Amino acid sequence: MIIKEKDSCESAVKELEGILQQNLSSEKRALVERELAALRKGQKGEKDAAYLINFDFGNSENWAVIHDLRLEDNGLVAQIDHLLINRMFDIYVLESKNFADGVKIGDNGEFLAYYNKSYHAIPSPIEQNRRHIRVLKNCLNTHDIMPKRLGISIRPCFRSYILMSAKSRIIRPEKEKFDTSMVIKADVLRTTIDQVVDKMNPITNFTTITKICGSSTLRDVAEKIASLHRPIKMDYAKRFGVDLPRIRSTERSKPVSRERKPYYCWECRSAVSTVVAEYCWSYKHIFDNKVYCKKCQKLVVERRNGKRG
Ligand SMILES: [Zn+2]
Repeated sequence: MIIKEKDSCESAVKELEGILQQNLSSEKRALVERELAALRKGQKGEKDAAYLINFDFGNSENWAVIHDLRLEDNGLVAQIDHLLINRMFDIYVLESKNFADGVKIGDNGEFLAYYNKSYHAIPSPIEQNRRHIRVLKNCLNTHDIMPKRLGISIRPCFRSYILMSAKSRIIRPEKEKFDTSMVIKADVLRTTIDQVVDKMNPITNFTTITKICGSSTLRDVAEKIASLHRPIKMDYAKRFGVDLPRIRSTERSKPVSRERKPYYCWECRSAVSTVVAEYCWSYKHIFDNKVYCKKCQKLVVERRNGKRG
């Protein structure tokens, strides 16, 4: 089941294209062009991976799929590309990377990406994903999301994978030196996960079998996680110091996919539009940083007033 698709970055692309039409210094133009290229490249990698994931897991009641999840917890932020959760609460945290010209992983786990005819050091996606998992773990605890069995919250099992585009070339160290088995091509994700699941024999593994939940519980947990999504809008004009009054106002008047309902009400799970979600976030102290539909917003306010009176 697909719980959340990727947010559209159409308006970000349009804004950057608009900035490029302005009179810019050559340095600034290069910066904006680089930003736009990186956005498009990342976009393509994520889209390709999302297609494969939806194809393999989107129709299964045993799996919940969440794309493009931005979490905030205690000042820490995690931008998770894809999340896959099964009915045993194995949570696969997936980071998709698009290194078209190849990547080399060193003996100590350092990452080098190939571009402009040489290798350049880049932050390790493995470490990046480790930090994402920490934020996700904290969020699950803070919001008490995991269902309980015999009064005890079920403990999910986190698995980290880096998805490389199918065409990219990966040079790895020997396994004894540095284990890179979590860095895989996006098109073998299904096979890799099947192998992991096969290894866990549910008949001998009592803890696993007691953890299996129904697909409605899985959906409930996944929708709660998706409701924690906190997207940010990049203000590129401000970042690049460009004045874009005309472009900005037309952007604003055009409802770019704001009618879609990518969020879920914390209380009743009904679908909620971006506008309603943003309204709730702007009253954090009332809604505790959660998203509620209009009907449930009233309930929350009434409950608060009731407590006070
Ligand atoms: Zn509601």
